[in-house]
Amino acid sequence: MRSAISNHVIDILQGLSQKSSCSHKHAAALVYNKTIICTAYNDWDSVYPRTCHAEIACVNRYIRDQKRLRKSINFNKLTLVVIRYKRYKEDVSLNTLKDSEPCVQCENALSAMGIKRIIYS
Ligand SMILES: [Zn+2]
Repeated sequence: MRSAISNHVIDILQGLSQKSSCSHKHAAALVYNKTIICTAYNDWDSVYPRTCHAEIACVNRYIRDQKRLRKSINFNKLTLVVIRYKRYKEDVSLNTLKDSEPCVQCENALSAMGIKRIIYS
């Protein structure tokens, strides 16, 4: 994965993932031409007792921002990058990404939205 995505993006997502209150800390970014245009991390839903996964939170934020700015929503040129970082209270010197993969719900939702370029750590 590291060869496809710049260390800059990974560094930002690693830092962002630490804001998550979940035990498995994920962060996601929509990237266009090596530029991050939107980020999010997984966290507990404010209404229901469940977590909102980072990739869906990121895409929802992008859609909300685009609508607010009255811009079109087009995922064709965007790459969605999702990382899983160290667990809560895990040794901070273990500066490594963990393998991650989409859950069925996220995979189906991202597919339905037409997001084709997705990279998981
Ligand atoms: Zn998911």
